[in-house]
Amino acid sequence: MRLYADKPMHFSKPHTASYYAATRNEIAAFPVLGDEVRCDVCVVGAGFTGIATALTLAERGYNVTVLEQNKVGWGASGRNGGQMLGGIPGEARLDKVWGNTHADFLFELGYCGHDIIARRVHQYGIDCDLRYGAIDVALRSRQVEQQKRMHEALCARGMENQSRLVSADDLRELLGTDKYLGGLINMRNGHLHPLNLCLGEARAAAGLGVSIYEGSEVTGIEHGDSVRVRTRHGAVRADNVVLAGNAYQHLEPSVLTGLVFPAGSYIVATEPLSPEEVAQINPQSLAVCDMNEVPDYFRLSAENRLLFGGRCNYSGREPRDIEKVMLPRLREIYPQLAHKRVDYAWGGKIGIVVNRVPLMGRIGTNVFYALGYSGHGVSLSHAFGEVLADAVTGTSGGIDVFAGVPHRKIPFGQELGSQIVALGMLYFRLRDLL
Ligand SMILES: Cc1cc2nc3c(=O)[nH]c(=O)nc-3n(C[C@H](O)[C@H](O)[C@H](O)COP(=O)(O)OP(=O)(O)OC[C@H]3O[C@@H](n4cnc5c(N)ncnc54)[C@H](O)[C@@H]3O)c2cc1C
Repeated sequence: MRLYADKPMHFSKPHTASYYAATRNEIAAFPVLGDEVRCDVCVVGAGFTGIATALTLAERGYNVTVLEQNKVGWGASGRNGGQMLGGIPGEARLDKVWGNTHADFLFELGYCGHDIIARRVHQYGIDCDLRYGAIDVALRSRQVEQQKRMHEALCARGMENQSRLVSADDLRELLGTDKYLGGLINMRNGHLHPLNLCLGEARAAAGLGVSIYEGSEVTGIEHGDSVRVRTRHGAVRADNVVLAGNAYQHLEPSVLTGLVFPAGSYIVATEPLSPEEVAQINPQSLAVCDMNEVPDYFRLSAENRLLFGGRCNYSGREPRDIEKVMLPRLREIYPQLAHKRVDYAWGGKIGIVVNRVPLMGRIGTNVFYALGYSGHGVSLSHAFGEVLADAVTGTSGGIDVFAGVPHRKIPFGQELGSQIVALGMLYFRLRDLL
């Protein structure tokens, strides 16, 4: 078998120059696929969705191959805000379609990724700075009202000991800013180093026999009782295929084009803060996310850098100077940190679905897909990995709940579609401002 292990850089892009890439745990590079191999399940994409699905299937005894065009964790999974958040985007739409029919399943699903992550971190010894505690913060009075309803809903689900409303006065103490009108703490949520989680899970999957190939872009899929997945230098024949390329993939265009749009989101990481600064701005090291439709989100890293992200431009275009775009907003919230140096600035693509409900379904009988977590994929991708593994192994109840949600395709293809979504997001930003 030709593996091209000696020249992977010819085929793949390196990790983006992020704080995460600079502090990643080393794992051995995976080879490039250079031949035709056979397996039970072929997974396309080595972000959280792909690796979590592969690991679940391997834990169940399946023979799995993962094909990644660049590096494990190269996409959104290795670049995101690291906020492990519960719930499912597009809840209102899911309610409209299903009423109460699947309410319990959906609530459990919205948090089960947290449990999967915690179990894997423990079981496989993954060093990814997992910490618990997160807070939603309100910028408008209607968001304070919304937080009260969210809190009631969490209490009704037995989370009264894990969630708490916080007044604006208390927030000044807790977050060292008077920018917010109220907060909702959720101690079941948390934050982590996403690239190290993804790499650790890949290492665990490889340890269970999963074959992972990097620098191996999938260029085509030939459907049939067994599916043939082509890469530039090899192929995989599999009984089932899982597409997990999220905002970066272009496969199966007749089904998936126009459903998910690659929206840019950007993060800056400051130099480490002093203990005094930490005590002033976030002594409990909470993950913070505002409640705007286009939110700002921030948290401290393990060595107390402030990781501040947000402002999706929804146009897919990367700003020339990310630091210049992000710093004014960081300083609006924390003027006391205006002197802090920015050590890293980077961006990535979020897969946004128009009605926000993540996409999961099947093409034919044996090609499955999951994508479009609309910025909530750290935990949810792990939950979806479980549902995808169920579907592959013959239990389709979970996938059918999502496959049954109608989605509207943006007309005129991906390019013009992105501009239409940009207009839609302008509408959401105007709503945020009202
Ligand atoms: C800047 C930023 C901040 C975010 N912050 C948060 C947050 O704080 N909390 C949260 O919950 N979510 C957040 N998200 C969203 C979250 O990161 C994603 O929802 C999640 O990582 C999606 O995982 P994935 O595996 O589906 O996709 P990705 O991680 O994007 O992985 C897809 C992989 O598929 C590969 N691929 C694509 N096409 C092919 C092909 N043809 N052949 C082979 N490989 C292919 C890509 O190279 C890529 O590695 C953020 C996203 C970004 C970009």
